[in-house]
Amino acid sequence: MKEILQDLSLDELRALVAEMNEQKFRADQLYRGLMQGKKITDIPGLSKEFRKSLAERFENEPVSIREVFRSSDGTEKYLFELSDGNLIEGVLMRYKYGNTQCVSTQVGCRMNCAFCASGLNGLIRNLTAGEILAQILCVNARIGGTAEKRAVTNVVLMGSGEPLDNYANTVRFLKNVTAPGGICISGRNISLSTCGIVPRMYDLAEEGIPVNLTVSLHAATDAERARIMPVAKAYTIAEILKACENYFEKTGRRYIFEYSLIAGENADKEHAQKLIELLKGKPCHVNLIRLNEVKERNLSGITEKEAYRFLGMLEKGGLSATLRRQIGADIGGACGQLRAGYLAEEERKKKEGQQTAEDEV
Ligand code: SAH
Repeated sequence: MKEILQDLSLDELRALVAEMNEQKFRADQLYRGLMQGKKITDIPGLSKEFRKSLAERFENEPVSIREVFRSSDGTEKYLFELSDGNLIEGVLMRYKYGNTQCVSTQVGCRMNCAFCASGLNGLIRNLTAGEILAQILCVNARIGGTAEKRAVTNVVLMGSGEPLDNYANTVRFLKNVTAPGGICISGRNISLSTCGIVPRMYDLAEEGIPVNLTVSLHAATDAERARIMPVAKAYTIAEILKACENYFEKTGRRYIFEYSLIAGENADKEHAQKLIELLKGKPCHVNLIRLNEVKERNLSGITEKEAYRFLGMLEKGGLSATLRRQIGADIGGACGQLRAGYLAEEERKKKEGQQTAEDEV
């Protein structure tokens, strides 16, 4: 794979332009073109030779939209292709106040949570900062946004992958996506979701990019959490809570816990009670999610009514909580589902092809 131009900050582009003996203002032209989601070869104003030497060293289109699936509720699910042929996915959710894009940070994931489709085939590779950014740049352009007037207004790092397991690239991405003069999405409008990699949560608090921190909790005791999240064997809930408090002290950001409701695992009255005891009085919010059932994973969700009952118990116990609207469930809305489904389909076609070939012999 060639290098990714979208990895670079404006200052780094300026250094590159100087190194390539081009005039200074070319860096701004280049940056504007990239922020508008253009291929290197389509950026206006640059000389043919300059574009050519750039495209020899850098990927012309590091992330391209392979397919778009539209849900009946307006949510759009994207299947992206990377320049090495790997596939990742993203979601665009439309709200009254703006459009939120969910981006991936890795191809696959090595966390292997029991309910999630992203970890089904393990981690394939990390995305570079530019590959994370380019997901936003091409969707923004597709829905009519520019760098100056963005159509993607909010970003959540909740696609496939564990952002804090790809720390350096994720932080570089956060710096570039919030940089003035670029697509410039404010940290306030960005949420990073982690399964709770404690040391990196402390590191993130020091980066000076105050994004919202979301932690996938999914259980109120370490033993119950370890049944569904292998990472719980490495870090305890107490350690996670301390890291969240530190994040709050350093950044002033209230933290959010995700809690996906799974029948027989974490969705009964006693679980609500334990969650209340654990979080009462803390400056946090609980986001309940109804499980998107993944057919390769043997877990079931609970009904909407039961989920509202669970929510009611948390609220009565004094917690700030919401039940997340189940979006895009008809198009494989949960992390990794689209890619997993796509890979399974390709596999099926391949087998079918082989079968036909065998039949013909
Ligand atoms: N690796 C990050 C980002 C994951 S995606 C993390 O662990 O936080 C965002 C949220 O969706 C996480 O809380 C994740 O646990 C949850 N999730 C993943 N698959 C799900 C599914 N099939 N149903 C419901 N929630 C799911």
